[in-house]
Amino acid sequence: MATYDLIVIGAGPGGYVCAIRAAQLGMKVAVVEKRKTLGGTCLNIGCIPSKALLHASEMFEEAGHGLGAFGIVVGAPKLDLPTMMKHKDDTVAANVNGVAFLFKKNKIDWIVGEGRIAAPGRVVAKGGDGAETTLEAKSIVIATGSDVAPLPGVEIDEKTVVSSTGALSLPKVPKKLIVVGAGVIGLELGSVWRRLGAEVTVVEFLDRILPGLDGEVAKQAQRMLEKQGLSFHLSHKVAKVDRAGGGVTTTIEPTEGGQASTLDADVVLVAIGRRPCIQNLDVEALGAKTERGMVAVDEKFATNVPGVYAIGDVIRGPMLAHKAEDEGVALAEILAGQAGHVNYGAIPSVVYTSPEIACVGKTEEELKADGVAYRVGKFPFTANGRARAMRRTDGFVKILADAASDRVLGAHVVGFGAGELIAEAVVLMEFGGSAEDLARICHAHPTMSEAVKEAALAVDKRAIHM
Ligand SMILES: Cc1cc2nc3c(=O)[nH]c(=O)nc-3n(C[C@H](O)[C@H](O)[C@H](O)COP(=O)(O)OP(=O)(O)OC[C@H]3O[C@@H](n4cnc5c(N)ncnc54)[C@H](O)[C@@H]3O)c2cc1C
Repeated sequence: MATYDLIVIGAGPGGYVCAIRAAQLGMKVAVVEKRKTLGGTCLNIGCIPSKALLHASEMFEEAGHGLGAFGIVVGAPKLDLPTMMKHKDDTVAANVNGVAFLFKKNKIDWIVGEGRIAAPGRVVAKGGDGAETTLEAKSIVIATGSDVAPLPGVEIDEKTVVSSTGALSLPKVPKKLIVVGAGVIGLELGSVWRRLGAEVTVVEFLDRILPGLDGEVAKQAQRMLEKQGLSFHLSHKVAKVDRAGGGVTTTIEPTEGGQASTLDADVVLVAIGRRPCIQNLDVEALGAKTERGMVAVDEKFATNVPGVYAIGDVIRGPMLAHKAEDEGVALAEILAGQAGHVNYGAIPSVVYTSPEIACVGKTEEELKADGVAYRVGKFPFTANGRARAMRRTDGFVKILADAASDRVLGAHVVGFGAGELIAEAVVLMEFGGSAEDLARICHAHPTMSEAVKEAALAVDKRAIHM
């Protein structure tokens, strides 16, 4: 029987990064993954393919509607969807093959099969042909990620009623698309198909979009998305989805009660969230505690079963690839006797709509609820020279700083390249920096990042360009 220092179950960004870091630290590592390719949800059916389509559809939109204002006259662009999908598939292939290369480089054994923990220290991997391989290790990491959360009573066939996975591979642009759920995934994929020509209607249970994000940011995002043609039914729930004549009729009802109405569409995208994937792992049989469907772990990612750990979407915290990666690194280092650590207060979050929305740290709502006295500095991109030059003036930067110490507690950016701009605030927060620190750092001119500096200056009411 093969014996390892570490067996990781699941090769998503949590699992594969943990495996690589552990191998770097001298451990003998095996990874059991049921999918035929490495990289998990993120690389195969999540972050990477969605960003390939988001970028391609943004270019299509720009070619159709954005270039004229720069004096570039082109004919109406034509969509070649198969080539756009090939771009997405090639991007995925390059990334998953890259992880396979890294496994070889780091001498990590990759076992294709569904893993279950038969006993502490023992993993059984069942291959596609049903053959079982038993492996032993000192430590086992559950990194099995998450799956699409189903909408009760609604069957996902990945053709007319799709999850994010089906929405990444639609064979043609739907005339009408209904998106159930105004979270990150629904809005990103809704944006893709809107830009490619679909009429997109978003149905959301809550009275706002992007739950969890700063309220002002979410309102601005909704206004921008409405301008782009998305329409919203907030405070509505889906009562029924009927397939008929190749289309779908969705019955929606106000959450507070009231008159039901119907929406017709060619495709319905169910994007109401994701749930941890712990089926078939024998977690409960092993005696490992779970909490609200997640594997329960302590601050060192240890479950209550000795030698069994868990990271990524399968445990508490935001379901984000970089959070899973950082936990993977931290755990490998802890297992090697080092002081691995994740600062959950400084994990950025990005919505890849156009423009992007990015945030880190506290929202205004959270600070109010916690009774923290804070100051706000805001700066709009309409007052930023580079944004004007690029016709990317939608959005703003908002910095929240502690009223007494001036320490930055949160940063929120709506605007072109927000996902890159937020990194500066993350670094600042990691080092416990203040708005004054940020305001005194020299920023290149002309850049969008000057708006970050100006927002920091605005905390002390001394923005220069406003
Ligand atoms: C459409 C979409 C877009 C997204 N975009 C972003 C984004 O832009 N940025 C971001 O940060 N996050 C994004 N996410 C979320 C991100 O993909 C997840 O947070 C991340 O993949 C979690 O990593 P993980 O390693 O915990 O699990 P996963 O990536 O889910 O990987 C788990 C792996 O475990 C395997 N597995 C499960 N059970 C077993 C078993 N019993 N035996 C063997 N293998 C098993 C699965 O096949 C899978 O490959 C997106 C998700 C989706 C669906």
